[in-house]
Amino acid sequence: MDTKTTLIHWFRKGLRVHDNPALNLIITKANSEPTKYYVRPIFILDAALIQWLRVGANRWRFLQQTLVDLDANLRKVNTQLYVVRGTPAAVFSRIIKDWRVSLLTYETDIEPYALKRDADVQRLAKEAGVKVETFCTHTIYNPELVIQRNGGSAPLTYQKFLSVIEKIKVPPALGKLDSLIDVQPPPKDALELENANCYACPTIDELVKRPEELGANKFPGGETEALRRMNAALSDESWVAAFEKPNTAPNSLDPSTTVLSPYLKFGCLSARLFHQRLMDILKRHPKHSKPPVSLHGQLLWREFYYTAAASETNFDRMLGNKFCMQIPWEINEEHLTAWTHGRTGYPFIDAIMRQLRQEGWIHHLARHAVACFLTRGDLWISWEEGQKVFEELLLDQDWALNAGNWMWLSASAFFYQYFRVYSPVAFGKKTDPTGAYIRKYVPELAKYPAGCIYEPWKAALSAQREYGCVLGKDYPHRIVKHEIVHKENIKRMTAAYKVNREVKEAKSPKKESSKGKRKQAGTSAQSTKKKQRT
Ligand code: FAD
Repeated sequence: MDTKTTLIHWFRKGLRVHDNPALNLIITKANSEPTKYYVRPIFILDAALIQWLRVGANRWRFLQQTLVDLDANLRKVNTQLYVVRGTPAAVFSRIIKDWRVSLLTYETDIEPYALKRDADVQRLAKEAGVKVETFCTHTIYNPELVIQRNGGSAPLTYQKFLSVIEKIKVPPALGKLDSLIDVQPPPKDALELENANCYACPTIDELVKRPEELGANKFPGGETEALRRMNAALSDESWVAAFEKPNTAPNSLDPSTTVLSPYLKFGCLSARLFHQRLMDILKRHPKHSKPPVSLHGQLLWREFYYTAAASETNFDRMLGNKFCMQIPWEINEEHLTAWTHGRTGYPFIDAIMRQLRQEGWIHHLARHAVACFLTRGDLWISWEEGQKVFEELLLDQDWALNAGNWMWLSASAFFYQYFRVYSPVAFGKKTDPTGAYIRKYVPELAKYPAGCIYEPWKAALSAQREYGCVLGKDYPHRIVKHEIVHKENIKRMTAAYKVNREVKEAKSPKKESSKGKRKQAGTSAQSTKKKQRT
């Protein structure tokens, strides 16, 4: 009789073979006693989720490519990926018995839905006597540890965050994963006997329900591509050492930053490995740039937001979110649709939103421009609406980072200089004066000269006809006048901040006088002006 039990590693994020302690554990354990264990690395695909998750076609394709690549990389170490269809609860209820599971490992996750899912699975495992081992490896620093070292709450500023992590040691990334010694695959279960392909990776057709929405495959998914991309980005050490985010361009035709974010989001790339490689380079180049603007600083923004998000289950909404200012945003479906589909009449804004829809990635400062425009800058629409659109369209969509950055840009949390508003005209011109980026993504305006491509409303009707694009017919009139609305919105922000301050003071009347507090807030805002730049 076969007495072997099965060791399972459950992939969720962390879709990689390198630097994956939870996967490493089951391989090492199986190798130490090959006669005792089978190994089955799994990914759970819940068909119901495919229907209702806010995930666009490009991100489904990224996931599909990632799973295929993961399976190939696992086969190189003598195992494979088992993609099990069903809900996690149903899947575990079945396989714990059918496969005689004795150990389950996985990487922890801070997202509220994941915490609930994992608690349910832990309960099932406990009832069945299955041991569970978890590892916090999606981030470089364990958010819970940072919170603990900060006295029980998440650091509210980046500088404070830096001072806390300074004293925390980062363990080195793991070396190459060993191959499984016992190459004998586990015996087929009832499902496999019925259908040998039941645990195969999904095809594009299985995941992508609206293939007509697929854009160019500029950033293919997978660990192999992630490592290639990281190596390429880090090969120019002078570029790495001199990197300063504000000096990169939001509208270059080729990305001016690494585009490692989709790979970090799915864990195709270990943040710890990227960090380690980065630090090695910086050691060789002592005159390097520094956080917050350096490349190292960028990775730490990710850590900063993760730590904050880990301490607030309502991080992705305004109500009930301890970090977030309460601002009376307005609903305007027409404006929201125009923004979402790149039809605001502001070519720079529209080009960014169309690039996002087509390619799934836009530069950080381009995100700044469109997020400011939607919220406090021009349209006065809630950041939660923008967050939803990004959630669908971004390849790198990440619960903590999307919400954290939207709060920053709408001056709802972490950043409070609401009077600093991006111009939807002047900002893009700085790095792309001829408008090549607009010509690419808003081709109707391709014949407009550089002088008015950012402001087509300045062209006379006869000129618009000559350029083959008449406003109101071939391209929309601008939906708001920035020069007017942004001033009105600053006044609304001033009023909203006042109300927030009064509510806060009413809740804790014994603390400092409001005058004293205001003075302090003003000073710290000014002093962090430079430091807090992303
Ligand atoms: P690089 O400049 O090469 O930086 C390297 C890595 O550092 C990135 O891959 C990313 O993991 C991290 N990083 C850089 N900037 C930030 C930042 N501001 N916050 C957190 N991490 C950062 N990033 C996401 O990964 N997912 C999101 O859902 C997301 N939503 C955003 C929404 C808005 C409104 C804004 C303004 C920014 C958002 N960002 C998000 C942050 C940032 O824009 C992207 O991480 C970055 O542009 C990715 O490009 P890159 O990999 O070339 O970055």
